Formats: sequence, structure tokens, C-alpha cells
Amino acid sequence: MPRADRGPAGASFSRVTNSEEFERTPGGAVIMDGKRLRDEIVAGIRTKLDGLGNPAVCLATVLVGDDKPSQIYVRNKHKKVEEAAMVSRHVGLPADVSQGELEAAVTDLAQDPNVHGILVQLPLPEGLDAERVLDLLPPEKDVDGLTERSMGRLVRGRDGHVPCTPLGVMRLMERYGVETSGKSAVVIGRSTLVGLPQVLLLGRKGVDATATLAHSRTTDLAAVCREADIIVAAAGMAGLVTAEFVKPGAAVLDVGISRTADGIQGDVHFESVQAVAGAITPMPGGTGPMTIGCLMENTLSAARMLGALPG
Ligand code: NAP
Repeated sequence: MPRADRGPAGASFSRVTNSEEFERTPGGAVIMDGKRLRDEIVAGIRTKLDGLGNPAVCLATVLVGDDKPSQIYVRNKHKKVEEAAMVSRHVGLPADVSQGELEAAVTDLAQDPNVHGILVQLPLPEGLDAERVLDLLPPEKDVDGLTERSMGRLVRGRDGHVPCTPLGVMRLMERYGVETSGKSAVVIGRSTLVGLPQVLLLGRKGVDATATLAHSRTTDLAAVCREADIIVAAAGMAGLVTAEFVKPGAAVLDVGISRTADGIQGDVHFESVQAVAGAITPMPGGTGPMTIGCLMENTLSAARMLGALPG
């Protein structure tokens, strides 16, 4: 569908659809480039720390077992920590570690004044209780925002760490001028890691979207999504969101990651959706890099909360 047919000057997303500054897909949708924004965030942190005399801001990661994708995720996080001029520490534990040993390792990090952020790579191998481990994290060090206390703060609208993936989605929308106030949003997926905090963030005062939480029992998901100015897809189902889900001019953000016979795929059928959407995240290169960018941001604010930054 030609861009001119997507509503009067992009009724929902005037800033996106009128801007010529951003790269676009062949169908005319603005590409919300997560790698570019992540790199801006990382460079900004480096500059900030340099200006503060390079205090040692430390992110500690805990990885249990030898799951290859988890190892890659953790390695990528360490790489970005280094680029941001922060320091990292890694605790690797065997898959058969006991709950007590894991909890002891996390408690050590929680008590170490030189560690500011702690990330426990999930999922943990079967038999280990992730919630009990996460709840050992002091809220200041909970840079993934997944503990009960961090979640409670998010619900109450109080300051605290927000889970990195939904925060990354919000940052992308801000950066690319997606309007949220008074707009309707549909989030597909209701996990505590992504969908639930995403809906809370979209509905926050100041963001002011009217957000619907959709899931596997939602009746006629395509029709629900077609009403939305913003779609955040976090179902983990390759190609779920096709052009018929999308209102012309809508912003579509793809969180899903599925490993298929054809390689890694998102929840959004990019080829068809880019011809209708006003703005779209690429896959890869969209929300994934932003998760790491926001982890870096949360680690810096952890150090600030703990009084580890001068001034
Ligand atoms: P999850 O805990 O498995 O939750 C998936 C959610 O999607 C559930 O609420 C489920 O509904 C819903 N769902 C599944 N199939 C659906 C369908 N056909 N229609 C509507 N809803 C459907 O997964 P998660 O941890 O939230 O992760 C979601 C996806 O995001 C995964 O692919 C994951 O790999 C990816 N992810 C990406 C990043 C990133 O950085 N980009 C970060 C984290 C996760 P029910 O509740 O009814 O079962």
C-alpha cells in the first residue's frame, strides 16, 4: 500500500511519517534501528563515566549450565559493558549446582560493595527455583527489574529498575517519535518478563497509551490488533503478525525470537507488515540490541542509586 494511503499525514504517527531523517523499508515504513540506538546509549554512558573520572561501575552476570544461546547472550553483554567503559564480573556454575550453592553465589554478589548490577541469566536449568534466587537481589542491584520488589515499584509508579526488553521498546518509540498519548496499543504476550511490564509502561502517566494485553486465548487477535496504533509482539511465534493485523501507519515492534528451520525469526512477518506499518523494528537489529542497551542504562543507574558515582 503506498504511504499516501495510510491516513492523513500518518494520523497516528505524524512525527514518524513526516520525518525524512530515518531510513525506511521499501514499503515506506520507518525502520526503528535498535542497534543504532543501543550504540548511542553505550557511547553516552562511556562519555558520562569519562566525565566522572571513570569510576568502576560493575555488572556481574551469573550463568548456570552450558546452554549455548545463553552463553552467547552473556558474552554479548560483557562486550557491551566493556564498550561502555564499565567493568564486568562473571560467575559460571555447572548445570548440577545445588539451589543452596547458587543462592550462596548470588548472596556474595549482593553483599559485595564493588558490584552494582547483578544479572542472573534465565532460564535456569530444571530443578532450580529462579524466583527464590531473584528475590535475593537487592532492588538497587536488580538491573533486570524482575524481582517482586522491582515489579511492585513498577506497578506503583515508583522509581526502580524496569525490565530491559520492555524498556527498550519504550526507548525505541521515544527515539523514533512514535506518539503514545491517547493512542491505542496492543501487547501480544503476558509474561512477567515482557508483556505485563510492557502494558504497565505504555499505560503510565506521561506515556498515556490505552494498552490491551493480548494472549493465546484472545479472540480474533487480528481484529484486536487492527484497532491499534502500536503493536508490541512478544509471543514467541514466528510470523504471527501479518499485514492483516496492522492498521495503516501503525508502529509495530517485534520482540519475539523463534529458532526455526529457516533460522531465527521474529513474531512479525516483516515483508508483508513493512508495506502497511508507519514504523517497524527490523529482526534482527531491533528490540534485541535495545535489551542490552537498557541493561547498560540500568547498570549505570544502579551505581547511582548505590552512591557509587561521584557528584
Ligand atoms: P513466554 O513467557 O513464553 O510468553 C509468551 C506469551 O505469548 C504468553 O503470554 C502466551 O499466551 C502468548 N502467546 C503465545 N502464542 C500466542 C498466540 N498465538 N497468540 C497470542 N498470544 C500468544 O515468553 P516471553 O518470555 O514473554 O518471551 C516472548 C518472546 O520474546 C520469546 O520469543 C522470547 O524469546 C522473546 N524475547 C526477546 C527478547 C529480546 O530482547 N528481543 C527478550 C526476552 C524475550 P498465554 O499466556 O495465554 O500462554
